[in-house]
Amino acid sequence: AAAPVTVTVTGAAGQIGYALLFRIASGAMLGPEVPVKLNLLEVPQAVHAAEGTVLELLDCAFELVAGIDVYDNPAHAFDGASLALLVGAKPRGPGMERADLLAANGGIFSVQGRAINDGAADDIKVVVVGNPANTNALITAAHAPDIPASRFTALTRLDHDRAVAQLAARTGTGVSAVRKLAIWGNHSATQYPDISHATVDGRPATELVEQDWIRDEFIPRVAKRGAEVIAVRGGSSAASAANAALEHMRLWVQGTPEGDWTSMAVPSDGSYGVPEGVVSSFPVTTSGGSYKIVPGLEISDFSRSRIDASVTELQEERDGVRALGLI
Ligand code: NDP
Repeated sequence: AAAPVTVTVTGAAGQIGYALLFRIASGAMLGPEVPVKLNLLEVPQAVHAAEGTVLELLDCAFELVAGIDVYDNPAHAFDGASLALLVGAKPRGPGMERADLLAANGGIFSVQGRAINDGAADDIKVVVVGNPANTNALITAAHAPDIPASRFTALTRLDHDRAVAQLAARTGTGVSAVRKLAIWGNHSATQYPDISHATVDGRPATELVEQDWIRDEFIPRVAKRGAEVIAVRGGSSAASAANAALEHMRLWVQGTPEGDWTSMAVPSDGSYGVPEGVVSSFPVTTSGGSYKIVPGLEISDFSRSRIDASVTELQEERDGVRALGLI
């Protein structure tokens, strides 16, 4: 049998953690042949709740689970990890300024970056889910100087999936008919869901929907979907965020299908005028455990202005954490 892969999940006692762990344990992320060792990290006051989740994981008798441990010490939680899903983050509290939020998360992600640097496996792959995800990924990478920055990514697959679902609904097709959608920029309301290169059943999406619909309905709906879920469900999206985090990792490890892309926030290599090092979402293909930003796409003036607006926000966040000495 294959050796178990160590997967570290932070914020394991939270809503997303609860929706994520059982699916990882069932083999939905790494496939039905790959045993997993689960390392759960929580803050001390949530360790007990995480242990409750472990009881339920054990009660599922998942055949692929080679062991489960709960930690409050990041150095232990990331020891030997090949995959890390950083879900736990400090939510914005009442009256909290943006700088306070960045500082609180800076404390969390700098410590985790160092722990990953010192103890994770050589092939470590990291996805940050906790918000502000792109900038938290930047902070984590900055504290792991011995690991290539390219291993530190942030989640925009949920935005991607939301966009696919909206386009499929609008064109009256199934989601499997939609290809080559892209999310650019920040996982925030400034993100740019882009259908310029998308196809639906092989036809250009832009021939099937109106420009007005794209600008006035599709883009804001996708960008504000999180708020819509909160308003309707009475709680923030958890199962869909967990599903997207799992898909992000699954595709990174197993590869994107021929003729399609996914979206990942990754440290820019300067592609498409996004300043080098900024963790911004791009369309990517994955293969053999690495990803590649899709090259050579034509960018319209409309797309350019949307990408630039979101990247400007990311640069402001980067300047903010720099001013706080967090990177
Ligand atoms: P959730 O599990 O619901 O969310 C966790 C994080 O994911 C939040 O930062 C949330 O951002 C973010 N997120 C990103 N994308 C989405 C999305 N599309 N929809 C919803 N959330 C999204 O939070 P809980 O409060 O239930 O749980 C958090 C857990 O993390 C707690 O158990 C806490 O103790 C733990 N924690 C652990 C740390 C550690 O391991 N060191 C550090 C800090 C916290 P947003 O807030 O913007 O919704």
